[in-house]
Amino acid sequence: MARSYLAETRRKKVAPKKDRIGVVISRLAAQHADAKIALSFESPLELLVSVMLSAQTTDVNVNRVTEKLFVKYRKPEDYLAVPVAELERDIFQTGFYRQKAKSLRGTMQRLLAEHDGEVPEDFDALLKLPGVARKTANVVSAERGEAQGIVVDTHVRRLSQRLGFTRQEDPVKIERDLVRLVSRDDWARFPHLLIWHGRRICDARKPRCEECPLAADLCPSSRI
Ligand code: SF4
Repeated sequence: MARSYLAETRRKKVAPKKDRIGVVISRLAAQHADAKIALSFESPLELLVSVMLSAQTTDVNVNRVTEKLFVKYRKPEDYLAVPVAELERDIFQTGFYRQKAKSLRGTMQRLLAEHDGEVPEDFDALLKLPGVARKTANVVSAERGEAQGIVVDTHVRRLSQRLGFTRQEDPVKIERDLVRLVSRDDWARFPHLLIWHGRRICDARKPRCEECPLAADLCPSSRI
């Protein structure tokens, strides 16, 4: 079970979340103007593969692997044309390579059989691809400019709890709270803002509240 940050929200009295969300987003956007997806890709297929490979590893690691991978594997057929052991070797460094190779092959088969080899835009069709869970489908949709929900990763979960935007622990329930709170226009950029803020300032163990633009009046977990 992932660590909970809910108890930290008792440190400081702040306004209700509906009154804070807009200011939180604008202050984070000012602080992290460069916040965007850290994966490198040049097509919807590369985006989908990168996100699938990013489970349980860092984006930096995925980019290192896909730099070579995407030269060799350009279309869905390419993932099926090599023996599975070769694909496993080519993605080995992202970890969980057996499961990931299986998911990639299953997904490519379905793309060819049902979507003319293209990555579908429909959210439910994305969810039906083997190995594509809600988080992956959310990232792919958001990056294509059609966010259907809000991506909840470990940073988004922690920051949403610390900022008092949710009282939930489960990512699906956290997402439900966030889509009610955040304006639809911000569904795509909101998780990037939290992810970058989480990486740079609101560390899991030692949040640097003294450097945080939310500490004085917007964060119920602020240590200052
Ligand atoms: S770093 Fe900012 S968001 Fe994180 S706990 Fe401190 S004040 Fe809150």
